[in-house]
Amino acid sequence: MQKEVICIARLQRSVTLRRQTTVEKSGDGMNKRVALENLPSKMLIGGEWVDAQSGEAFDVENPATRAPIAKVPRGNALDVDRAVAAGLSAFPSWRTVPPRERGRLLLQIADRLDHRAEEIATTIALETGNALRTQARPEAKAAADIFRYFGGLASELKGETIPLSETVLSYTRREPLGVVAAVIPWNAPLLLAAVKVAPAVCAGNTVVLKTAEDAPLAVLKMAEVCQEYLPPGVLNVLTGTGIECGAPLFSHGQVAKLSFTGSTAVGKIAMEAAAKRILPVSLELGGKSPVIVFPDADEDWVADGIIAAMRFTRQSQSCTAGSRVFLHRSLFDRMLDRIVAKTSALQVGDPLDEASDVGTLINAKQFAKVCGYIEDGIAQPHSKLLAGGLPPKQGPLSQGYFLTPTIFASTNNKWRLTREEIFGPVMVAIPWENEDDVIRMANDTHYGLAAYVFTHDVGKALRCAHSVEAGWVQVNQAAGQSPGHIYGGYKESGLGREFSLGAMLDSFTQTKNVTINLTR
Ligand code: NAD
Repeated sequence: MQKEVICIARLQRSVTLRRQTTVEKSGDGMNKRVALENLPSKMLIGGEWVDAQSGEAFDVENPATRAPIAKVPRGNALDVDRAVAAGLSAFPSWRTVPPRERGRLLLQIADRLDHRAEEIATTIALETGNALRTQARPEAKAAADIFRYFGGLASELKGETIPLSETVLSYTRREPLGVVAAVIPWNAPLLLAAVKVAPAVCAGNTVVLKTAEDAPLAVLKMAEVCQEYLPPGVLNVLTGTGIECGAPLFSHGQVAKLSFTGSTAVGKIAMEAAAKRILPVSLELGGKSPVIVFPDADEDWVADGIIAAMRFTRQSQSCTAGSRVFLHRSLFDRMLDRIVAKTSALQVGDPLDEASDVGTLINAKQFAKVCGYIEDGIAQPHSKLLAGGLPPKQGPLSQGYFLTPTIFASTNNKWRLTREEIFGPVMVAIPWENEDDVIRMANDTHYGLAAYVFTHDVGKALRCAHSVEAGWVQVNQAAGQSPGHIYGGYKESGLGREFSLGAMLDSFTQTKNVTINLTR
C-alpha cells in the first residue's frame, strides 16, 4: 500500500496535462494546429484516396486524453484485393524504371518528409502518445533519413559475373519480387513503415502496407508525400484491423513477399501463411533483452546507459528494451540508487509538451496488461518495488494511459516479469556474481533481439558480446537503429535483417543466374 502511495505522489507532481485537441502554444504551435486540422481519413489505393468498400470506419484515439482524434477506413479483404490489384498493375512498369531514377525519387521523398517533419512528428505524438521532443521528432527525422539512405543505394542493386570458363558468360541479376505485403505495429509507426517501403520500392517492388489500428495517421501522411513522387499503385496503404485486413493480406494469392514487424505470436501466423505458398518472409518480432553490468562499470554514465537501453522515454514500448538488468552484486544497490534517482527526474506528461520526457502507453489494453505485470511484481515475495508502480486513479495524468518508469529488484530470473515481453516501463534488476552464470541467465529466453554490456574490460565485453544469443549487442552504449545497421533477431525475435544494403538485397530482391555459351 505504501509503495502505491509513493508512486501516486510522484505522478501528481508531474506536469499538468493540457487538452491537446485544440489548445496550442505559440512558435511551433502553428505546426501542431495544422497537424490537427489535416489528419488523414482515407486509405491510398492505386493513387486514389478511398474509403473502405464496406463504408465502415473506426476511431483513432489520442492516448493522452483517451479522446478520438480521427476516423479512418475499416479496410477488409475487399480492399486488400483492390490494393494488391493496384500493386500488380503498377509492377511491370515500375520494375523497369532504372534503379538510379527510382533512387532519385526516394531522395525527393526524403527532402519532402524533412520539410513536413514537424507536422508529421506532431501527428506521431498525438496518435502514439510518444513524447514529441524525445521520440516523435527524432522518429520523423529518422524516417526521412531511411528514404535518403536507400535512395542513395539504388545503384547497388547489381549482380555478379561467375568465372565458369572462357567460353561461358555467367552472370546474376537482382530482380524485384512483385507486390510486397507489409504489416507494421504502432510503437514507431513511421520509422517501421519507412524501413519497409523505402528498400522494397527502391528495389523495384510495389507495396501494400497495412498500418497498425492505433497509429495509422503519420504513415498516411508519409503516403501523401510518397504519392507526390511515385506512380499510382507503387505504394498502397490500408487501414484496418489485424484479423479483417492483415490476415487477408498475408494469405492473398498474388502477393510475392511478406514483411512483418510485430509480436512473435502474429509473426508465427505470417510464417504459416508464407509457408502455404513458399513465399519469402521477413519477421521483426518481440524481445526481452538483457543488460549485463560488470563490477568495473560502477559509474554514473552507466546508469544513463541502462535507462537508455530500457527505452524509458518511449514508455519502454520498444522491441529492443533492455528490461532484464543483470547488475554485478558488488554494485547492485549503488547502481539501482542511481537509476532510481535519474528515472524519478524524468517528466511524465503531455506528449506535445516540450518539457515532457515520457508520454503515454498506447491504449487501454496495453495499459491494463502492463498494470497487471506491476501488480504481480508488487505481490511477489522475491521482488521489491524501487520506483514507479501503479498509476494514479485521479489527477491530470489519470486522463490518459500514463505510467512512471517502474523498477523492481529481484533475485529470481524465472518469473513472468523476467520471461515475458511486457512492452511497457517495467524493469527488473537481478544480481549476479559469476560470468558464466550471467551469460546463462541472459540466454535463458526464447527471444534474441538485442543485448547491452557495460564494462571497461575489452576481453569481458567481447566474450560477452560473442556468447549472448542476440542479433544486436551494444557495448557501453544503448543507441537506436540507424541506416546501414544490419538489424534483426535471433531465436523467436525474428528472421531476416532490415535497415541495411544487405537487407534490401536479401529481403526485397531475388537473384537470377543467366548463363550463355559463347561458342555458338
Ligand atoms: P501485433 O503483432 O499485435 O500487431 C502488429 C500488426 O499485425 C498490426 O498491424 C496488427 O493489426 C497486425 N495483426 C494482428 N493480428 C494479425 C493477424 N492475425 N493477421 C495479420 N495481421 C495481424 O503487435 P503490436 O502489439 O502492434 O506491436 C508490439 C510488438 O511488436 C511487440 O512484440 C514488439 O516487440 C514488436 N516489435 C518488433 C520490432 C522489431 O524490429 N523486432 C519493432 C517494433 C515492434
